Amino acid sequence: MKISVIGTGYVGLVTAVGLADLGHQVVGTDKIKDKIDRISLGDVPIYEPGLDALLKKNLKKGNLTFSQNMDDTIQAAEVIFVCVGTPQKEDGSADMSQIEEVSRMIAKNLNSYKVVVEKSTVPVKTSMWIKRIISLYRKTDVDFDVASNPEFLREGSAVSDFLNPDRIIIGVESDRARDLLVEIYGSFKDRILITNIDTAELIKHASNSFLAMKISYINMISDLCEKTEADVELVAEGMGLDKRIGRQFLRAGLGYGGSCFPKDIKALARIGEELGVTMSLLKEADKINAARVETFIKKLKKCLWILKDKTIAMLGLSFKPETDDIREAPSIKIIAKLLEEGAFLRLYDPKASENMKSVFPESENRLIYVDNPYQAVGNANALLFITEWDEFKNLDWETIKKNMANPIIIDGRNIFLPEDVRKRGFEYYSIGRR
Ligand code: NAD
Repeated sequence: MKISVIGTGYVGLVTAVGLADLGHQVVGTDKIKDKIDRISLGDVPIYEPGLDALLKKNLKKGNLTFSQNMDDTIQAAEVIFVCVGTPQKEDGSADMSQIEEVSRMIAKNLNSYKVVVEKSTVPVKTSMWIKRIISLYRKTDVDFDVASNPEFLREGSAVSDFLNPDRIIIGVESDRARDLLVEIYGSFKDRILITNIDTAELIKHASNSFLAMKISYINMISDLCEKTEADVELVAEGMGLDKRIGRQFLRAGLGYGGSCFPKDIKALARIGEELGVTMSLLKEADKINAARVETFIKKLKKCLWILKDKTIAMLGLSFKPETDDIREAPSIKIIAKLLEEGAFLRLYDPKASENMKSVFPESENRLIYVDNPYQAVGNANALLFITEWDEFKNLDWETIKKNMANPIIIDGRNIFLPEDVRKRGFEYYSIGRR
């Protein structure tokens, strides 16, 4: 079976490499030619643990190639996985222009039966539009199917998530498309759930929005903990012991970021409203999330009063650990706010600094990027932990304290036990606990 993957970003590249590793013949393509050049040479343009080795392995095996020629790639394929972006528009709805563009490309190159698989996260009813666009623009009467196979990988563990999925959702409306997709995912037979397309599309949006809601829920509870003697970490642990609730995604902090939760919860709210369904639960969860950074800055101001000309060290810029992705990262809003207040910033992240430089370029007297946490805290009036990278868990506290002007720490991810940090002579503030 010949498989094409269109879009070689976080999802598309992992999908192409993962499907090749499952033994399929795969061609990946992207509209950014440089990306294809780099990937063809075995150079992964993003940071994703394990991806580099798996890409090289499958390129060498010969069943994975990348091509800049989208026409040929589409024509040669029987199954096409569409992995392009579905970013957020100003009004919160999903921008479907990349999906439309690819649908037109597929229509133009529809030379034989193909299954067009939506792997990108799309609003329910998208398949109807893809079908309409392909039907409108195709030049022949060649048959095709649209299917939905949403992706659930998490950045930072994308390779192992792809190769050890909890579930494979296949939304189809023909036996032919179902059989092809079931064959592709043969090795995960016991984890396949077959549904209609609307259901599959909705499973993805509903899952992401639910997880985002869980995060906002514990963050709301953490605000309550701060007004009482309760400790949010223990509240979460106690809640999580209930199997119906579970401990995952009950981590109080700076809220959710990344390229999925913030846009998916808004997109689901929008599509619901367009279809006449009240989605206020999701809107409230998103509002809680938006307020997290403000609450965090208030904590900092409570320590330093005036931020103008203060030196602030920030550890962690990516939206979560083990990725270089900064899309919708809370760090962006925090940096913008601190610059607005006139602070000096010293920033460190193990992987995401280069990406952040394209949003906030280095400026000698306002913002610098440094090579390690110890440089970051140089003469700092406060140290902020923004992302819970593992390497921050074993810092040399003596050196940190010696390098800082004021030993003040605000931990936005509850990385440490308050008593451990305080006994080393720091003022320590975290989320939802004393
Ligand atoms: P991305 O921005 O990293 O990658 C998208 C890729 O598509 C880019 O390389 C871009 O150049 C390419 N592209 C855009 N238009 C194209 C076109 N017309 N033809 C060919 N290539 C084109 O995005 P991503 O993070 O990989 O996300 C892709 C989709 O998967 C989104 O819908 C996202 O919501 C969903 N998703 C993302 C994740 C994640 O963790 N990143 C997880 C699950 C689902």
